[in-house]
Amino acid sequence: MKRRVVILGATGSIGESAMRVARALPDRIEIVGLAGRNNIGRLLELGREFPEAVLCAGDESAAERLSRTLGRPVLHGEEGLLTLAALPEADLVLVAIVGTSGLKPALRALETDKDLAVASKEILVMAGELVMATAQKMGGRVLPVDSEHNAIFQCLEGQDPSTVKRLMLTCSGGPFRKAASADLASVTPEQALRHPTWSMGRKITIDSATLFNKGLEMIEAKWLFGMPMDRVDVIVHPQSIVHSLVEFLDGSILAQLGSTDMALPIQYALTYPERFNGPCAPLDLTALGKLEFEAPRTDLFPALDLARRAGTTGGTLPAVLNAANEAAVDAFLAGRLSFPGIWENVARAMDTVPFVEHPTLDQLIEADQAARNIVAS
Ligand code: NDP
Ligand code: MG
Repeated sequence: MKRRVVILGATGSIGESAMRVARALPDRIEIVGLAGRNNIGRLLELGREFPEAVLCAGDESAAERLSRTLGRPVLHGEEGLLTLAALPEADLVLVAIVGTSGLKPALRALETDKDLAVASKEILVMAGELVMATAQKMGGRVLPVDSEHNAIFQCLEGQDPSTVKRLMLTCSGGPFRKAASADLASVTPEQALRHPTWSMGRKITIDSATLFNKGLEMIEAKWLFGMPMDRVDVIVHPQSIVHSLVEFLDGSILAQLGSTDMALPIQYALTYPERFNGPCAPLDLTALGKLEFEAPRTDLFPALDLARRAGTTGGTLPAVLNAANEAAVDAFLAGRLSFPGIWENVARAMDTVPFVEHPTLDQLIEADQAARNIVAS
């Protein structure tokens, strides 16, 4: 079967990997829509490569320039993303926009009978309950692209959910796995952007250094797999070869292994439930030699405990954690905040923004904005 796919965030790191998958599997994947924001040069190249695809740029003037060069209409802005998400000729929408700007388009995709492939973990942290409820109501699938969740998704195939004891998310530990607490105060953006195993966008690379990435992923797992927080664990695995594991009641543990290449989970999400020979290089375990595992250092990285608290409490708290983290990462990258300032600001926002137990989408958006305001101040 050929899947007709829209990619939101096509000009980013996940977008690039998704393009590699699409190029390798032209009989299986047809690109029908592509959205970027500021990287107009890249969007132009993609528009030329996929002449049938509907394009969306960040703003009107960029869309007009692109449209003149390509000789076809180009959408723009939030409205453009929503139109692309609802494209009648699409079967599946891949949301790979950094942050929460992909939330409304993701909901729109489900509401218009499409499957959703989610890379943007932030939207599940902010509004996982709403996204999963919308998918259930509409009968659409939510296919995880994040490598850990894609691994768990694969391990759970054909298993009885009531036999799952716990999910174990693997974590590289980031560049400061062996650091001393005192070292963290002087970490620069340049140091934090050097991830030991994965090459990714800037925001998620900083999240990987603070371990907020893993914290967000704990909450993401809770919603994707309907698992209580106390059965979502984190285990440090510096090689990033075991992408995650599931432990069952009988003591069996299933794991999924593969190269550190996002093309693999993206391909599984886009072609699910089928498997094909794609662009991902095979894994040579003998060349690798050994796989190591250790407990995470929660004393050094408060992100994990903060995320567990947010995921357990629920309501608006995960949205606050997520938004405060996004704002704090921006401030850190701009040189306005220290590295430990990221989790200090997240904790402050979590303690300050008024809590709502069963929020509407508007209340989630309000809590998100309040958290950003606290970090900005
Ligand atoms: P990048 O920063 O590389 O790319 C982000 C993409 O989103 C770009 O295409 C960018 O467009 C677009 N974008 C940013 N803001 C907006 C907006 N407001 N409206 C529309 N488009 C926007 O990020 P990544 O690809 O690394 O990450 C994307 C998502 O996937 C994140 O949520 C991340 O957590 C998740 N993820 C990423 C992994 C990875 O390996 N990179 C692994 C697992 C999850 P432009 O550049 O044109 O401005
Ligand atoms: Mg991940």
